[in-house]
Amino acid sequence: MARSGMTEAAHEADSPRLGRSNRDIVTLGIVSAAIVMFIGTGGSVLPRIVRQLAGDGAGPDQLLTNALLLNIALVIFGWRRYRDLAAEIAERRKAEKLARELAEHDALTGCLNRRSIGSAASALCLAAQQRGDQAAFIMLDLDRFKQVNDVNGHAAGDCLLEEAAGRIRSLLPPGALLARLGGDEFAVVLAVAPNRGEEIERMAEGLIHAVAQPVSFGEFELETTISAGISRTTPGEPVDVQAQLHMADIAMYHAKRNGRNRLAWFEPNMENEQRFRSEIASGIRRGVPLGEFVPYYEKQVDLESGTIVGFEMLARWNSPRLGMVNPEIFIPVAEEIGLIGELSESLIRQALHDARNWDPRLTLSVNISPVQLRDPWFSQKLLKILVEANFPPSRLEIEVTESCLHENVGLVRSLISSLKNQGITVSLDDFGTGYSSLSQLRSLPFDRIKIDRSFVMSLLEDKDSATIIQSIIQLGEGLGLPITAEGIESEAVLAELKRYGKFKGQGYLYGYPEPADRTEATLAQLDLLLEMPGKTQGDARRKAAG
Ligand code: C2E
Ligand code: MG
Ligand code: MG
Repeated sequence: MARSGMTEAAHEADSPRLGRSNRDIVTLGIVSAAIVMFIGTGGSVLPRIVRQLAGDGAGPDQLLTNALLLNIALVIFGWRRYRDLAAEIAERRKAEKLARELAEHDALTGCLNRRSIGSAASALCLAAQQRGDQAAFIMLDLDRFKQVNDVNGHAAGDCLLEEAAGRIRSLLPPGALLARLGGDEFAVVLAVAPNRGEEIERMAEGLIHAVAQPVSFGEFELETTISAGISRTTPGEPVDVQAQLHMADIAMYHAKRNGRNRLAWFEPNMENEQRFRSEIASGIRRGVPLGEFVPYYEKQVDLESGTIVGFEMLARWNSPRLGMVNPEIFIPVAEEIGLIGELSESLIRQALHDARNWDPRLTLSVNISPVQLRDPWFSQKLLKILVEANFPPSRLEIEVTESCLHENVGLVRSLISSLKNQGITVSLDDFGTGYSSLSQLRSLPFDRIKIDRSFVMSLLEDKDSATIIQSIIQLGEGLGLPITAEGIESEAVLAELKRYGKFKGQGYLYGYPEPADRTEATLAQLDLLLEMPGKTQGDARRKAAG
């Protein structure tokens, strides 16, 4: 194999056992014996033949001549047999070597595989310890690799993996180990002098930088990033390779959660965090089919008149073990474990069902995760849910966060257009936090901008917040986009906002988010519910928000 998971120095130590075949030795013995006998018989037979040819005496004994001829035949036969056997053995050794390489290495990248990294890393750690060195474990995982596979195909994914492995390998010092643990996950194990944390960090940063450079694939350029988690052994303490790999893995996930394309050192508290997340993950898997995830509703109000114009649906997890859990805890985990689509669709179905009885002029806003925006079937799925619930698309508003704009903008644009073609409105949530550029904002057909609550909440104390809010309002006016201000908690903030213009708003001033039954009770009091005896749509009046 041309490439190897081990750098040169580490490889020789793993030289194969080259067993000699017994048959090989027996044949060699026969040939040697035949040669000795040939020398013995030839010594007396050949001089007689020479003398006979010279006419100087009788020829050799017939028996001895036969024995010599037999000897010659044996030598020739034996030698050829020996040569064939030697060739056969060489061939077999080559096949064994190849089989071993295949068993120990990853076929695509030539790196060591999950099976072989354990013993190779143990040997490396032992040698490092004997020298008084440390061993560093760097776990690497490509960011959003699935997306590359889904969008560009598996050949592109393979190309990216090969290239990433090659770049990582080229930066490793001699003797370092590189393994592909499966999928898009790699592990590097290397020996370092004690207390050289910054050296390891520099190496990991180099790997992250190298992988982030674009990769040519036919006429396309593929781009990816990689996240790294690092752990290292303690000098003088016994090394548990699997535990080290696990710690590096936990740190790598931490790096991913903190924004990807970065590194993190393992810290013991990360293990608790990881345990908590896996508890949340299994809770989500159990809870979705059991209906533990429920919609809450927050009023959206016309600030000028104070009337309710709609509700934003906010997910809550009514967990039997943890109580009522906020979305900021479970949404990222649902995204990570690939359940966000299912969870969100179940919540939207419930919300459409709840909103059936509301005054038809009231809108319903739902938040959509960037992960869902990457699903090319998302708008079809949503349309199906709307049709099943018999809910008019014009009453539905989708909120996407500004961070979505860092995703594949082309994909986001076509999805937003497709939603709008169905009559759904789309607003840009948490605006002001995600550094989106003006050109991005212009190129995407949003219907509304929502100012992030952090600016509104600090409007009176922080001059910068006031300036930012005013600029967003001006931007909205310039682009013809209406504005919603979230996070209005006090009359004073409301009064200040009203000075800036006319827009919609929401916040605790108008009440906390409430479950469906309490929302319905509020609407009933305000005479904003349908299907009440003797009542028609036209009767429903919007009233001042309570
Ligand atoms: P968001 O869409 O910006 O929702 C507004 C958040 O601000 C809600 O938090 C709401 O309870 C909170 N909030 C509203 N008014 C005030 C206020 O006056 N003061 C303060 N301090 N906070 C206020 P919540 O419900 O915890 O939701 C957090 C985020 O979780 C949401 O931010 C949204 O991005 C996300 N989220 C909620 N439900 C879903 C969902 O079904 N799917 C997805 N993908 N994300 C969701
Ligand atoms: Mg929102
Ligand atoms: Mg928001």
